[in-house]
Amino acid sequence: MARIVMKFGGTSVADLDRIRNVASRVRRAVEAGDEVAVVVSAMAGTTNQLVAWCQQLSPLHDAREYDTVVATGEQVTTGLLAIALQEIGVDARSWQGWQIPVRTDAAHGKARIASIEGAELIRRMQAGQVAVVAGFQGLAPDQRIATLGRGGSDTSAVALAAALKADRCDIYTDVDGVYTTDPRIVPRARKLGRIAYEEMLELASVGAKVLQTRSVELAMKERVRVQVLSSFEDKPGTLVVDEEEIVEQEIVSGIAYSRDEAKLTVRGVPDRPGIAAAIFGPLSAAGVNVDMIVQNVSADGSTDLTFTISRADLPRAQATLEAARGEVRYASLLADSDVAKISVVGVGMRSHAGVASTMFATLAAKGINIQVISTSEIKVSVLIAADYTELAVRALHTAYGLDA
Ligand code: ADP
Ligand code: ASP
Ligand code: MG
Repeated sequence: MARIVMKFGGTSVADLDRIRNVASRVRRAVEAGDEVAVVVSAMAGTTNQLVAWCQQLSPLHDAREYDTVVATGEQVTTGLLAIALQEIGVDARSWQGWQIPVRTDAAHGKARIASIEGAELIRRMQAGQVAVVAGFQGLAPDQRIATLGRGGSDTSAVALAAALKADRCDIYTDVDGVYTTDPRIVPRARKLGRIAYEEMLELASVGAKVLQTRSVELAMKERVRVQVLSSFEDKPGTLVVDEEEIVEQEIVSGIAYSRDEAKLTVRGVPDRPGIAAAIFGPLSAAGVNVDMIVQNVSADGSTDLTFTISRADLPRAQATLEAARGEVRYASLLADSDVAKISVVGVGMRSHAGVASTMFATLAAKGINIQVISTSEIKVSVLIAADYTELAVRALHTAYGLDA
């Protein structure tokens, strides 16, 4: 007997048949004697539609109203799954974030979970009731609904597992585990039996959306045992574990890509102290996260500054920089959202040289131009034209010997 959190993503609850399939999986766990909390996402496509409606009405919409709209997808699936469970004889009830409550910080649209009140859920789970919890949402300090950023139900599940002191957090999705790269674009990708928290964290943060970055961060911090597995097939998935638990560590363990990027170039910036602060300060105040940054050397007292942000933040970033023009006195601002970031990740990079040069040589051989480069201890990322995304990922997958 164990206490488990089972999380089902959008494709796993995409229609009523799939919701019935989820219900019968949950019933099996209940029949095995487990105490179960389920976290659900919105039906596949729903959140995209809700986000699009907000954007169509106003590109710079009020984030609190955005949250009011996009949190509704999960409310629907909690109720439907509770009904489906009751229908097959399982005691269940739905819980919205504000009812538990799942408290978050004030960052509407990309809030972080601050705390979860677990006592009542535990009491009911012990009495045999399944808690069906809405992922992706919580209650902000202003007493309004907040959402956790795209893919946030993973984080809801891990945070709930920590709050309930669950034995496991199983993330059910439409692939049967974590692969060396997205199996949808590289059919020869290999499934990993185990992956280290740190590698999973880095892969998620550079675009492997199989787990939301924050969920991995939390799992690592709270020591939650996470497994990624298929909601359609019965086979073991991928365990996210400590580095020491992995016997044979590869130098590169995975490749990720993100098309969710935009590049901004500020041309003709005066080259003097305080300029970076004058540009990045207002962006940070506007809630825009900056990722890769390059600054050229200046020849004539002025320089160009190029950096990347999430594509969704582009309108806000442009508006912010236009407003800062009086102070920064740059010549022009160029935006390009036809870019993708490709990253190779592996803890083996700490001790092995040559990973970056293999990457550059492989991309060169395919005629792919590198626009920006950034590195960390266990990662190398490059920004390239979006059209070359798949070609680059496949070529690198082969170059690092990852093909199945
Ligand atoms: P869910 O709706 O269940 O949360 P997501 O679409 O958010 O599912 O995440 C699962 C998807 O992540 C897969 O369908 C796959 O295309 C993608 N993916 C990206 N990188 C990887 C990877 N390295 N391993 C497995 N899946 C990956
Ligand atoms: N429904 C939300 C999204 O699509 C949260 C999630 O699925 O994890 O981003
Ligand atoms: Mg997801």
